[in-house]
Amino acid sequence: MKTTVALVRCASYDAATLDRSVAEAAELAELPDVRGASVLLKPNILNVCSPDQAVATRGEVLAAFARLLKARGASRIMAGESPGWQSQDAAARKSGILAACESEGVEWLDFSESVEVASPEGKRVRRFALASALEEADILVSLPKLKTHRLMRYTGAMKNLFGLVPGLGKSAFHLRFPLPEDFGLMLVDLVAAAKPAFSLMDAVVSMEGEGPANGRPVKTGLLLASRDPLALDWIASSVIGYDPLELPYLVDAASRGLWISGAEDIETRGLSIEEARPERFELVPLRSGDKFITDRLPTPIRRLVRNATIARPFFDHGKCVRCGGCVKICPPKALDFVPDGEASSGKRIRIDYDKCIRCYCCHEVCPADAIRLAKRPF
Ligand code: SF4
Ligand code: SF4
Repeated sequence: MKTTVALVRCASYDAATLDRSVAEAAELAELPDVRGASVLLKPNILNVCSPDQAVATRGEVLAAFARLLKARGASRIMAGESPGWQSQDAAARKSGILAACESEGVEWLDFSESVEVASPEGKRVRRFALASALEEADILVSLPKLKTHRLMRYTGAMKNLFGLVPGLGKSAFHLRFPLPEDFGLMLVDLVAAAKPAFSLMDAVVSMEGEGPANGRPVKTGLLLASRDPLALDWIASSVIGYDPLELPYLVDAASRGLWISGAEDIETRGLSIEEARPERFELVPLRSGDKFITDRLPTPIRRLVRNATIARPFFDHGKCVRCGGCVKICPPKALDFVPDGEASSGKRIRIDYDKCIRCYCCHEVCPADAIRLAKRPF
């Protein structure tokens, strides 16, 4: 039997439009029976940013889904997210998620405490410390935003669940798995541990280009839903123009026997991929040589070649507001502040490129667009 992915039109974040489209997506994707269940919603917030930046899942989507869950008899609806380094509540407030929770009676849970969760067949990690809120839920729902991602190229239902790792615990995984393909294996281990029962993707306005935080909002007018997070990501990445077979973590997930094993297992309902495809969408390109680096070289050499050949962060000291976010989040501690007599703040960022693992976490969290990823300086 095939796995269903619902692809439905949703022209705006207007409540009536969303209620219609969310109900249609849930119906087509066969939302599990939630009667009497405690449901935990995991939106993607990432950092403190406003709704129009298209970094976070829109609060209106969470609100519409919460209304549907209530109508279908869920006994308790909760939500939470752990951004990289900023306050969970500040990020939720600025994104509009907190207001949506308050208006719909959704409990906003603290994601700073963790509980051990097993991933018995994990290829890289077999035990995760994930948000303890998971223990309170019968059903976990991933509510991702459709975005590009500089490190992983694409982020959706699966990558969104990395936010179950509390706070700076995420940096430790970047340090442990600096190569994207290893990081991807860990990510799939994590999704296998978290066991999401349903995913609903906000692709009404998506992010293209320098995602997941510094790309451009682009109207795509869609919602996607599925019981299978990999199937949803397979279709969503295809809609915007990727070949999922070139996204290593999706390919690995397809080999696990837990979700779909490829396109042949998926049935789309509602729109077809071609009908849903936007007129244009700027992807993160497959860097030339990536496949050679991934496939042929032993790990230590792969790291050296990768660091020498791919983009690295450059800092625009004029734009930098000295918030310290990049310094706090940098996994190998490659960044610090040094005195700068010419700057009004008296300091500027310094980077040690020998320590830098090219994880791009600094780029993700910078609120001032002061970091450029390139092979050459500004
Ligand atoms: S400087 Fe930026 S890209 Fe380099 S390791 Fe630190 S956070 Fe990652
Ligand atoms: S580069 Fe960006 S994240 Fe780092 S201190 Fe400056 S403004 Fe903050």
